[in-house]
Amino acid sequence: MELFETKKGLGQALESDRERGLSIGFVPTMGALHQGHLSLVERAARENDRVVVSIFVNPNQFNDPNDLKNYPRTLDADKALLSAMACDYLFVPSIDEVYPEPDTRKISFGSLETVMEGRFRPGHFNGVAQVVSKLFDMVRPERVYVGLKDFQQYSIIKNLVSRMDLPVSIVACDTMREADGLAMSSRNTLLTTEHRAVAPQIYRILQEARVEAGHFTPEEVQMHVKEKISSFKLLNLEYFEIVDELTLLPCTDWSQPGNKVGCIAVYAGSVRLIDNIFFDK
Ligand code: AMP
Repeated sequence: MELFETKKGLGQALESDRERGLSIGFVPTMGALHQGHLSLVERAARENDRVVVSIFVNPNQFNDPNDLKNYPRTLDADKALLSAMACDYLFVPSIDEVYPEPDTRKISFGSLETVMEGRFRPGHFNGVAQVVSKLFDMVRPERVYVGLKDFQQYSIIKNLVSRMDLPVSIVACDTMREADGLAMSSRNTLLTTEHRAVAPQIYRILQEARVEAGHFTPEEVQMHVKEKISSFKLLNLEYFEIVDELTLLPCTDWSQPGNKVGCIAVYAGSVRLIDNIFFDK
């Protein structure tokens, strides 16, 4: 594995790979790597000749300065994990390397960015779009691997790629979970013992919602999820919404065409966790 801190160095290595006709798969991350990230790297390695992983904690996508300050940073451990995997290039740029000048672009996504995460994290997806468009430009991959755990982010990235007409495929990867069902997340390491113990209830309640979907309306299922989460005093629900997979607009009737996905954001203490469940898959 080669480590690059500059886009020029990475660009030169990739250029010579491209000249040799090698395909490039890219896994953008913010580090503090876990098995969820590694599953993306494994898939990228199966489907491409070269794998690039980036680690960059993008300040522009944090709407809460404390979240940015506390975000886990474990670069040495990340390097050790990746060097044991089929990662060819690790790209760890500085903030100045990514943003030599402030990025003032406003990239709007209509209703995709105003619901759920967008409602509670103003500016978040604009920051995601800024960094993703810059990284895609630096790496110019054939395929990019993203997790369905961040379902709305996946929708935004797909939309960005089709709008900018970029020659890149976005590959959606399943959510990796701990043995007790908790979706793996870099933020899990910030949970206290008590909050870590209760956090698996989130996915358990989502699974119950999927069972309930056969018997109740979407509105009733949403209400039940809210009630169940609030029965745990260590969990604080921010939202649970059942939405159309493509438009992210609320599903009011199960008979509406298209797949539906239930998306949730919950505070476990000061740690914000997100997860989702597909109702039709
Ligand atoms: P992050 O470092 O949190 O920005 O995540 C980098 C990529 O890994 C994103 O595409 C995430 O959706 C994906 N990812 C994060 N957690 C998981 C997980 N538990 N399973 C699969 N992919 C994940």
